[in-house]
Parts: sequence; C-alpha cells; structure tokens
Amino acid sequence: MMTINNYNFAGKKAIVRVDFNVPLDENGKITDDTRIRGALPTLKHILEAGGALIIMSHMGKPKGKVVAKYSLSQIVEAVSQALGTPVQFAEDCAKASEQAAALKAGEVLLLENLRFYAEEEGKPVGIDKEDPAYEEAKKAMKASQKEFAKTLASYADCYVNDAFGTAHRKHASTAVIADYFDADNKMLGFLMEKEVQAVDNILSNIKRPFTAIMGGSKVSTKIGIIENLMDKVDNLILCGGMTYTFMKAQGGQIGESICENDKLDLALEIMAQAKAKGVNLVLATDCVAGDSFSNDANTQIFPAKDIPAGWEGMDAGPESRKAFAEAIRGAKTILWNGPAGVFEFDTFSAGSKAIAEAIAEATDNGAYSLIGGGDSVACVNKFGMADRVSYISTGGGALLEAIEGKVLPGVAAIKG
Ligand code: AMP
Repeated sequence: MMTINNYNFAGKKAIVRVDFNVPLDENGKITDDTRIRGALPTLKHILEAGGALIIMSHMGKPKGKVVAKYSLSQIVEAVSQALGTPVQFAEDCAKASEQAAALKAGEVLLLENLRFYAEEEGKPVGIDKEDPAYEEAKKAMKASQKEFAKTLASYADCYVNDAFGTAHRKHASTAVIADYFDADNKMLGFLMEKEVQAVDNILSNIKRPFTAIMGGSKVSTKIGIIENLMDKVDNLILCGGMTYTFMKAQGGQIGESICENDKLDLALEIMAQAKAKGVNLVLATDCVAGDSFSNDANTQIFPAKDIPAGWEGMDAGPESRKAFAEAIRGAKTILWNGPAGVFEFDTFSAGSKAIAEAIAEATDNGAYSLIGGGDSVACVNKFGMADRVSYISTGGGALLEAIEGKVLPGVAAIKG
C-alpha cells in the first residue's frame, strides 16, 4: 500500500479529502478549528514536498442543495491562515477543472461543499424509500455518483483521504473516487494513519488487562461495540444512563431514571455473556440522583437498584466511582466512550471526572488509552486531562464502527 511518507508529490496535484465540517457561529466565524488543525500535517507535508493541493470537504447536511450557511467559502481565510499561504476557492466543486489545471506547485484550491451535490452521499433525494420508483432512482443515483467521483478524480494525479470522521461512509469523495486511481497513487493521510493505528492498538495489540468503559444514555446505540468488546476485554464498565436499564432488568426500582424498557432482556443477556466469557462486568451500585433534570436539582445518594419515585439517577455514586477507578487504574489498555453521568451539569459530573482521572493516572503508569466519541472527548477536555491520555480520536461513528470490527469503506477503498 502506498503511504504518504513514501509518495513523491513533487510536481503532482493531490486531491485531499479532509473533514472541515467545523462549527460556525451565526456570523460564519469558526468556533472550534480542531478539525482544520487535525488535517494540517498532511496538507503541509504535500506542499513542502512540492505538490499542489486540491482540498475537498463536506459541511453540515445541505442534502444535495446549495445552502449558503454551509458554504466552505466562509472558511477560506482560516484555512489560508492555518497553511500560511493563499487559498483559491472553486465555487462549484464539480466544475473546477480549469482552476485545478492551472494550479502550480505550492498552490492550494479549496472546493465548495461536496454535499451541495446529492451525488456525494449517493442517496436519491425527494423520493420516499417506500415509493415503487425508489430502486430505479437509487440505481440512477449510483451511476451519477460514479460520474461525480470521476470528475473529482480528474482534477489530480493522486488521492489522499484524511477524513476519518466520514471514513465509515461510502461517499463519492471518501470511497468511490479511489476507484479512479491506481494503488500507487492513493493513500491515507497522517490523521487517518494515526486513527487506524489507534484502533489497531485496541483491537490487535492489546496489552492486558484491558478495561473498556462504555457510557452515554442508551445501551441500544452501543450494543454492537459492547458485543464485540466482550471477546476482548478483561473489565467492562457499563455506566451512564444505560445503568438503569440494567438495574430495572434485575428487578430494581429506578424512580424517574431513563430506561429502555424494550432492552431489559438484552441487558440480562449482556450480563450472562460477561459471566460466560469471564469478563469482569462493572455496573454502578449507587448513584447520585436529582429531583429534576437540572444543575440546580436537589441531590441524594441512593443504591442504583433502589431509587424512590420522584428521583432520577444522573451520575455514578461514590462507591461506584471507586469501583470504576479500581478497574481502570490497573489496566494496560483502556478504551472510553460515553460519560458516566449528565456531565454537562457540574452537579452530576463527578462520575465522569473520576473515570477521566483514573485513565490519566493509568496512562502516566504506562497504559495505552484511547478516548473516542464527542462526549467523552468533551469530558477529558472539561477536566483538563487531554494531555494525559494516549490518543483522542476525531471520529464518532467511524471510531465506533471500526471498534465493532467493521471495515471502514474509506480505509478499504485505499487498502484494497
Ligand atoms: P450518548 O450520545 O449515548 O453517548 O450519550 C451521551 C449523553 O448521555 C450525555 O449528554 C449525558 O448527559 C447523557 N447521560 C449520561 N448519563 C445519564 C443519565 N444517568 N441520565 C440521563 N442522561 C445521561
């Protein structure tokens, strides 16, 4: 497989898929440029090696139409500043042949939002899935998606994918385009290489004990990853809102706590699976409950299985925090996805903080720790632990799918 370090970019035009889906305020100003910074090593490397850059990205969900608030024209200046060089802009990403052809070594062209074309995602718009004509429309869209990808490919000599956030999507710019380059002219960018390596550390290069912490609101959205991890981990901490589905399944009283009533059997199944596989399943034994869903709620500690009516379990209690920290501190490999409570409210953030602290401590002692998913990343940032973990993934859905063991289309398109 060609790598970005081995490729000779001198005199070549590189079309690079990045994830510049940055948040903007109402004036179109970038409020968090993490994603732009994340792509800089790849973009700068290509320029320094004598290449010309054609940068492409999506922003938001314009659903195949031109929507001004999702225009990438708003970030031209920021990209230019980050790269330290002027950036040209192509107002129509599918009609940029002339601008691309005119690019010289060291020059940069940013294409307008790919998702202004429905072909990027390749899903027919304006037709219901139930409509008898849907299948035909889908076929036609797949054909025009190929044409769209071919047009993008025609701008450049080589293709680099550095957009991990969309690597789980088989879109024109993330996967289909790769068909129009031979194996020697397509490669992963540095960010993608790092993300793929981080997942590999968790799935293949496991140092034991391995502790995974899965939190968040629901068990249903995490079930794929929980089942996959069951064969790999020594300790599995399941926390956050999903706790109460487990407590109710075991006959507990959970007051007003959130619960997926149709997942009670699933919760019992997970507990049985853990037992059969010798996995140490750590569930909360106590909780910090609130009398309303707010930061100003009155709080009280209850056993997680015995929460009175009028109270809602919103964070892990002190005994649970101790048990979580213990299972984390001794670990040599750690994966964390999803908070242990409603961490957005300081009143209910102690559980997530205890997890972040224990992970930082274990990492100081030589463990490999991977944090992924927007909320857990927000947690480590909130508690100032970001520098004390091994790797913070930029991918939400892509990371979860990779850890579930699924092959990411964006990676497969390059690796073959
Ligand atoms: P998810 O998107 O499934 O990863 O869930 C993240 C969200 O779960 C965060 O916004 C948390 O506030 C929320 N959460 C965590 N614990 C609880 C809980 N005990 N009750 C309600 N929401 C929770």
